[in-house]
Amino acid sequence: MKISDIQTAVIEANYDWTIVKVITDEDIIGYGECFFAPGLTKVIHELKPLLIGEDGRDIDRLRLLMREAGATSGAGGGIILHAIAGIETALWDAYAKWLDVPLFRLFGGAFRKRIRIYADCHASEGLASLSSICTPRIPWWMSRSGETENFYEIHFRAHGGLKEEAQEPVNLQAYAERAKRVKEMGYTALKFDADIPNAYMRDEFNRCLDKLEVNLIASVVEAVRKAVGDDVDIAIDCHWRFSPESAIRLAEAVYPFNLLWLEDPTPPDSIDALAQVTRRSPVPIATGENHYTRQQFYDLIVRGGIQIAAPDFQKTGLLEGKRIADLAETFVIPVAPHNISSPIGTMASAHLCATIPNFLALEHHGIDVPFWEELALGWDGPIIRDGYIELDEEKPGIGIELNEDAAYRYRRKDEPFFDRLV
Ligand code: MG
Repeated sequence: MKISDIQTAVIEANYDWTIVKVITDEDIIGYGECFFAPGLTKVIHELKPLLIGEDGRDIDRLRLLMREAGATSGAGGGIILHAIAGIETALWDAYAKWLDVPLFRLFGGAFRKRIRIYADCHASEGLASLSSICTPRIPWWMSRSGETENFYEIHFRAHGGLKEEAQEPVNLQAYAERAKRVKEMGYTALKFDADIPNAYMRDEFNRCLDKLEVNLIASVVEAVRKAVGDDVDIAIDCHWRFSPESAIRLAEAVYPFNLLWLEDPTPPDSIDALAQVTRRSPVPIATGENHYTRQQFYDLIVRGGIQIAAPDFQKTGLLEGKRIADLAETFVIPVAPHNISSPIGTMASAHLCATIPNFLALEHHGIDVPFWEELALGWDGPIIRDGYIELDEEKPGIGIELNEDAAYRYRRKDEPFFDRLV
């Protein structure tokens, strides 16, 4: 199964979903997805000469070959590894199709075929879209469809509003209603942002939470807990915003509401800062979406003392993701993978989750993307049903194909779309 071509396409959704297509000399096609980064497809196309003509089944060797090639430009993390992760997933998909087996068979088989999904939520409905440098944008297809009206209002409401617009108290009712609606969709676990822009914020950069801000975040968590009752798990995400001391005070304030985890309390660069929080937080600390290798996760676990590992398989790649999960299992730590992908990355992640004994729940960040389900071909009904993905033994590879016609309608126009003229 020799690699004959590698093509890319970018779908403009709530994030840039970068899809890699590997074409082989046996007419088997594999799809993979990378976590977004500015200039990402350029990197993928620059890596391509390393792979053309290679046996696409030698995945670990090819992965290492690409890492070595990027060693001096950042192979410890970031864009090079995002590119490799998407290519690697496409190779796994192609290889599993070549063998005519579902992907989970290649990673040791399934502990479960029903994969629990947790929903990332905002305070309100409506698509909030960010560019590859995380600035708000209006996707071009939205302006075509006349959906731009109130876009910024929707976006900023979804993220709690800009500081200068955040003079009104946070709308607890909106959080409660949103949580209830997502519970009604069948999800048994939800996640909300804890870094809510608000009128009490004294300084945008010093990472210190005012007492009133802590109270406000706790009141959001309380409203969500009251809305969903005790049979739904709730996690909150701090996006690395806080100092250890502020994060600990926040954790103590939200402790009564029985959280599944508190995510990314402190900046990802300092394991010592993280360790201060994990030592004193009464709420379990999850982190990992900005870490890439088993060595980095070893440090997070041993020195950082995290309670839940949250790797993103569109960054780590599937094989390193499995090794990270094995490492976490060595320390009896559950794995709750981060995921902001289209159905391609989500299905690849779901297959890997099937093979991880210590798997907790897989993120879904696309509940507000109107065409998320439309992008999948070869699947009967919705992929995520009642908060779970049920893997199908009969479907080889990741279990779905990309609906390229649908993807084309939502493509990024300034990017190649596989081999089509755009
Ligand atoms: Mg996060």
